[in-house]
Amino acid sequence: MCGIFAYLNYNVNRERRYILQVLFNGLRRLEYRGYDSAGISIDHSFSLDPNTPKSSSNSPPPPLVFRQEGNIESLVKSVYQEVAETELNLEECFSHHAGIAHTRWATHGEPAPRNSHPQSSGSGNEFLVVHNGVITNYEALKESLVRHGFTFQSETDTEVIPKLAKYVYDKAKEGEGDHTITFSQVVLEVMRHLEGAYALIFKSQHYPNELIACKRGSPLLLGVKEFNENASNGSTFQDDNFLSKSGHAKELFLSSDANAVVEHTKKVLVIEDGEVVHLKDGGVSILKFDKGQHGGLSRVASVQRALSILEMEVEQINKGNYKHYMQKEIHEQPESLTTTMRGRLLRGGSCKAKTVLLGGLKDHLKTIRRSRRIVFIGCGTSYNAALAARPILEELSGIPVTMEIASDLLDRQGPIYREDTAVFVSQSGETADSLSALEYALENGALCVGITNTVGSAIARNTHCGVHINAGAEIGVASTKAYTSQIVVMAMLALAIGGDTISNQARREAIIDGLFELPNKVREVLKLDQTMKDLAQGN
Ligand code: GLU
Repeated sequence: MCGIFAYLNYNVNRERRYILQVLFNGLRRLEYRGYDSAGISIDHSFSLDPNTPKSSSNSPPPPLVFRQEGNIESLVKSVYQEVAETELNLEECFSHHAGIAHTRWATHGEPAPRNSHPQSSGSGNEFLVVHNGVITNYEALKESLVRHGFTFQSETDTEVIPKLAKYVYDKAKEGEGDHTITFSQVVLEVMRHLEGAYALIFKSQHYPNELIACKRGSPLLLGVKEFNENASNGSTFQDDNFLSKSGHAKELFLSSDANAVVEHTKKVLVIEDGEVVHLKDGGVSILKFDKGQHGGLSRVASVQRALSILEMEVEQINKGNYKHYMQKEIHEQPESLTTTMRGRLLRGGSCKAKTVLLGGLKDHLKTIRRSRRIVFIGCGTSYNAALAARPILEELSGIPVTMEIASDLLDRQGPIYREDTAVFVSQSGETADSLSALEYALENGALCVGITNTVGSAIARNTHCGVHINAGAEIGVASTKAYTSQIVVMAMLALAIGGDTISNQARREAIIDGLFELPNKVREVLKLDQTMKDLAQGN
């Protein structure tokens, strides 16, 4: 699962060169996640020259697609090469434009331009799709599309999506009287047929300057930058936005990761599973599927959502003087640990007891203390952080603590009871297996607690209560500061659950003192940086 980015400008003039730069920079911000190929789609010139392919109807010329295996810089190079060869005008100005971009981590089909995204509905690029995730029923869909005359150019699971969109669109056109099918109706119909995990962005020649984003299981957010700030009062989006067709100049961004949005705007909407977000005429409308009886998608309703503000600074996503993000994040630990404990670990004057205050758990502590067991559920590093914190939790709470790797719990359909407290640990708060395990634990009636680094993430939203680790953005793929902050949060959780009794007071105070000293101890260790390097090199 890799990266998605889209940029839509509305009533604001942008040259093609600028649009390309925004898309490339968006991809560079997602680069840290690892990928094997990349691609973008932008519009062709509307002033048709003799070389521009003409489409049958009045619709604009097919969008341009550029795809390349390897890193983003090789995509950039190939795009500018092609631009020069085809004499595409980089100075051409667009007051409205919708561009999409993707970094791919191949799951189906080797890394190659034909397998890179955007994937297309066919030769005219009528529907283009960028996808993060895996479509599990793609073989069945492909078979039936082939029966309907579609031919496939890639080995990806994704290619069925734009082709299905074209199928739905063509069918609707065939049968339609005066009615025209809307872009969101096409995508809603496509979504009904998809199984698996996905974040998707659709671009279409039939719906110029519109974009649709939808997701199920993979993260996606919308960023909104309005040039007339007064226009954003209240900042809620609903279906009516289409009717009001606000003419205010704005730029809209879609991304799988807040990193690629924060340099443009901090106003975001975290898209939820089952939502279909339609960007059109400067408005944003959101439709949502209700979950059907068997986990399928059923009724659709229009929803109203409020924008939230990203708690992230642009500096956090720059490397500064460090060689790479992981090195930077290792050195940030004295500060990240301090932030994790700030306002939570309290050491008053001499008469005041040392104590811990976790606001997000306050109302649920009694229930947690009464639970029959605490089950930690996570994947990878988060699972290991919980493993490291287990002894202190058992010691202070006296409650049995068990550990589950999310996918394993799901495979076994392991027992989770109403009397359990299930603690979900995830840096991003979007880990797919942990999210499925959360759904499972909620169905089984357990009290669900989230420990995440990402405010507004799916785990933060869907658990009953929780604690943010406040470690700041972690970009390095191998976890460092998030890992240490997770352990500190779990130590504070142990202190909070354990409660204050005379018998354990000395031990609690020793732990609290130890936690207070931790940032300085880490600082001391980090001073040994060069000594460690010398040691590793055998000097
Ligand atoms: N499953 C898709 C593919 O292999 C998307 C992979 C991704 O998330 O990058 O093309």
